Amino acid sequence: MLKKIIIVIVAIGLIGGFFYFDLNQYLTLEGLKNSIGEFRDLRDASPLLILGGFFLVYVAATALSLPGAAILTLAAGALFGLTEGLILASFASSIGALIAFLVSRYLLRGTIKKRFPDRLASIDSGVEREGAFYLFTLRLVPIFPFFLINLLMGLTSIKAWTFYWVSQIGMLAGTFVYVNAGTQLAQLESLGGILSLDIILSFALLGVFPFIAKGIISFIKKRRVYKDWNKPKRFDCNMIVIGAGAGGLVTSYIAAAVKAKVTLIEAGEMGGDCLNYGCVPSKALIKSAKVLSQIKRAEKYGLDSTSVNFTFNKVFKRIHKIIAEIAPHDSIERYTSLGVDVVKGYATFVDPWTVEIALNDGGKKTLTARNIVIATGARPFVPELEGIENSGYVTSDTIWTEFAKLTDTPKKMLVLGGGPIGCELSQAFAKFGIEVTQIERGERVMSKEDNEVSMFAEQALRESGVNLLTEHEAVRFEQKDGKKYAIVTHHDEEKAIEYDQVLCALGRSARLDGYGLDTLGIESDRTVNTNEFLETKYPNILAAGDIVGPYQFTHVASHHGWYAAVNGLFGQFKKFKVDYRVIPWTTFIDPEVARVGINEQEAKEKEIDYEVTRFDFEELDRAITESAAKGFIKVITPKGKDKILGVTVVSEHAGDLIAEFVLAMKHNLGLNKILETIHCYPTWAEGNKSVAGVWKNAHKPETALKYLQKYHTWRRG
Ligand SMILES: Cc1cc2nc3c(=O)[nH]c(=O)nc-3n(C[C@H](O)[C@H](O)[C@H](O)COP(=O)(O)OP(=O)(O)OC[C@H]3O[C@@H](n4cnc5c(N)ncnc54)[C@H](O)[C@@H]3O)c2cc1C
Repeated sequence: MLKKIIIVIVAIGLIGGFFYFDLNQYLTLEGLKNSIGEFRDLRDASPLLILGGFFLVYVAATALSLPGAAILTLAAGALFGLTEGLILASFASSIGALIAFLVSRYLLRGTIKKRFPDRLASIDSGVEREGAFYLFTLRLVPIFPFFLINLLMGLTSIKAWTFYWVSQIGMLAGTFVYVNAGTQLAQLESLGGILSLDIILSFALLGVFPFIAKGIISFIKKRRVYKDWNKPKRFDCNMIVIGAGAGGLVTSYIAAAVKAKVTLIEAGEMGGDCLNYGCVPSKALIKSAKVLSQIKRAEKYGLDSTSVNFTFNKVFKRIHKIIAEIAPHDSIERYTSLGVDVVKGYATFVDPWTVEIALNDGGKKTLTARNIVIATGARPFVPELEGIENSGYVTSDTIWTEFAKLTDTPKKMLVLGGGPIGCELSQAFAKFGIEVTQIERGERVMSKEDNEVSMFAEQALRESGVNLLTEHEAVRFEQKDGKKYAIVTHHDEEKAIEYDQVLCALGRSARLDGYGLDTLGIESDRTVNTNEFLETKYPNILAAGDIVGPYQFTHVASHHGWYAAVNGLFGQFKKFKVDYRVIPWTTFIDPEVARVGINEQEAKEKEIDYEVTRFDFEELDRAITESAAKGFIKVITPKGKDKILGVTVVSEHAGDLIAEFVLAMKHNLGLNKILETIHCYPTWAEGNKSVAGVWKNAHKPETALKYLQKYHTWRRG
């Protein structure tokens, strides 16, 4: 801080001195003309001293952003001639600009980053990709103020070296014009005459040239990826979509809505993972578990205690009934009625426009399309552990059918994984009275959330009966005397955990193999590599949903669907970058954990100057009436501002409560706006207004209130 203060004082002193001693009189055309004779005499007397002195003055003037860079450049030409003057002015202006840039970065970037983290992050990502091009254009077109560019660029993440060399090259043409004009100083009437409109326009043209060149290069690159393939002359459809999960369904829906001919290919069940193996069955299971646990706790609600019986496979029959009830929303019939051709079969890429389909009812079919969208989703990750093949493990893919076959409720269940799926299912099974052991390799469950949220979740799991073991890792599976064991390590010690059912919930890997991505050389890491428009290395092949990541949620897959359809069908006119700014999610444990934007942990990592505002549901009337008064809302805002950077809600209905914050963040509404909004009494949503009230209370105008108090005292006489 002290260093910064010293720099500011020195800069203010130097700038103040410049104006105090009226040095700017020399930095006008008149001033230069009047004094050039004297300077020339001095130069003839001691050429090196004057050259060095001039260089330093030029560097200092530009570093301090003093007005008159144009005059100094003219002076360079007038004093040292075209070649020497050009070299001198070019280096001095670039070095001075670099100093101004570094000072601005040192003094201001940290503060700006803390106050406007989102905006600066998006500027930085743009600068990372195109910064050098933009700077070059700004430098070349002399209508953009030189000093402002230095100061503003210092606020971005552009590298100092890039800034230096791009500035030097970019300013060279303009410097040349001014130095050259300086060599004929006597004939110069005004500064305005130096840059005619023609010259400015030529510079502007030169400035946009790199962008044109870049466009041409990217066009050639795009052409090059197709060089080994023969493009069909005609296509069967405008768009083929592979996979009928959330991503594929929305893509084909949008494509059909804009009257494109679209074919949707699905090898398994329509609706994909969410409907058949994910969100829908898990939430149906969670509901049965919750009802059971509430009945078991009847006394808590003023009722006599009662016992309730259940048959495990009936619970699973209900789950399948619910899947069947929702299935028409995603059915072949519905999508056909919307104008989508649905083909049941397994698609494999033949070339960038063609897929071959192994039809589910036998036979093969080949289809071509101008665009293809990969929406093939993800599958449960199963680690290669000794004995796992004979462990009888189930995953989220198989559990719904395997458990539906069980006549008896499992007694001992082992759940591998402390992520959202592992936590949701562990707690649900524990509520059925199953002895559930959940193991997690890391220090805490749901590690993307704040530490206190994980602690809250862990307590909730334990209260539901889950034997939660963190820092435990499964290493192999064994069977002895007809019993099954998982061997786990904990701080280098091994222990055996007996189970009769084991669920593997260790994350989900994108489906990358088996359908020709490798034949086409489509690059992937853990997911398919796409640009921000969801295009793979072939611009006509796009991807949507879990196959793209980074968020594996149904609503993100649907969100992708719109971009994949629109960028695929209309990309030649306008492309849209996927907007990840406001992505909410919910983990449906009891109580639920919902989040949008950043949490406290991320605010710290990003070095944001943040505030936390918190409301505890213990104080909410509705929560109390329901004997469910636990949990909290935690809002992250920049210090002193009501702008919402992120919210975590831990409570019953958290997944619904978060929606108000999602809307607020999406449309830049702050906490004041939520506070001004009427919420029904008594509802859970009042918690949202209450947290806004907590923020307001912490930011009340103390001084004004003091005067108001005095005013009221005076009014009382
Ligand atoms: C237990 C569980 C609970 C979950 N809970 C939630 C939740 O509460 N909220 C939430 O937002 N998300 C949840 N998810 C995640 C959600 O299910 C996924 O994010 C979503 O299904 C992704 O959709 P998708 O379209 O990318 O892929 P998918 O739904 O996986 O669809 C891909 C489809 O492509 C098909 N396919 C693959 N390859 C081919 C091929 N070559 N030819 C033809 N067809 C092919 C597959 O058969 C599949 O049907 C949960 C997931 C699980 C496992």
